[in-house]
Amino acid sequence: MHPFTYARATDEAGAIAASTEHSSFLAGGTTLVDLMRLEVMQPHAIVDLGGLALTAIEETAGGVKIGALVTNHALAYHPAITKSFPVLSEALLAGASPQIRNMATTGGNLLQRTRCPYFRDPQITSCNKRAPGSGCSAIGGVTRSHAVLGTSSKCIATHPSDMAVALVALDAIVHVRGANGTRTVPIANLHELPGEHPERETVLEAGELITHVELPASPFAKRSHYVKVRDRASFAFALASAAVAVQLEGTTLASVRIALGGVGTKPWRAKEAEELLVGKPGSRDAFTAAATAALASAKAQDGNKFKIELAQRTIVRALEEVIGGPA
Ligand code: SF4
Repeated sequence: MHPFTYARATDEAGAIAASTEHSSFLAGGTTLVDLMRLEVMQPHAIVDLGGLALTAIEETAGGVKIGALVTNHALAYHPAITKSFPVLSEALLAGASPQIRNMATTGGNLLQRTRCPYFRDPQITSCNKRAPGSGCSAIGGVTRSHAVLGTSSKCIATHPSDMAVALVALDAIVHVRGANGTRTVPIANLHELPGEHPERETVLEAGELITHVELPASPFAKRSHYVKVRDRASFAFALASAAVAVQLEGTTLASVRIALGGVGTKPWRAKEAEELLVGKPGSRDAFTAAATAALASAKAQDGNKFKIELAQRTIVRALEEVIGGPA
């Protein structure tokens, strides 16, 4: 492991002041420590956020405010989430193991790095995300876990978070603070497509800190659901997942949100699919047409072609289950 300095911040301003272009914030450590051990990430300085007061879940007039250091466990079981935003609780409980959920934080979950095996093996020299300009070993390689939406000729890595997919369906707002003050970022705009620069994964600037995530109240959040398909139910990343939320007026779909995981280079909002469903009654034919639209722009490699139909079926199942469930 490469040497680094360590500082424990006691407030947000101190954390931001202590950060540099080559430092990393440490929250739960469930991504960072792994990648430092693998020598994939080699920050010069670690700024530990453990002393910051960002651990509250607060119900507000407009929704719920979630501190960036709230653990995935605490968030998944909080009554404000289980009652009013069930898709988020379900997505969190579908992610990782109980031990990891006890450590992983809301902010860290959003910023977790890809599980692309080539990215995580520094012996492999070609990885544009880890070593910009070096190439991509995955393209033409083993691609079972890779993305089919939002890919580029430089990178096809899948975004690994389940939680972020649910937050995209819920129109969450990410609050950040940096040296130039505070700002908000709609969750759908937080993560970057790989394009020509897969090493740049979010719109956050160096030293910017996620302080909390806001869940706005909405007419569709309560009737929401997460379906995750993976190789083993106990602990695995998604091959395909769907977060859905709907508002029903009688049998008509008045509002629809669909976001996908396991298939996109970022948590993927399927707006084309949503637009096909609004104003229509829910039916298998309508859901199938929407699912087809959601994957219309998919580009697969030999090893992950199966994900297109798998994702379509996952969307249909999630929508059928959510309209059949309690509102
Ligand atoms: Fe690296 Fe992306 Fe290619 Fe994986 S898919 S090897 S992360 S450039």
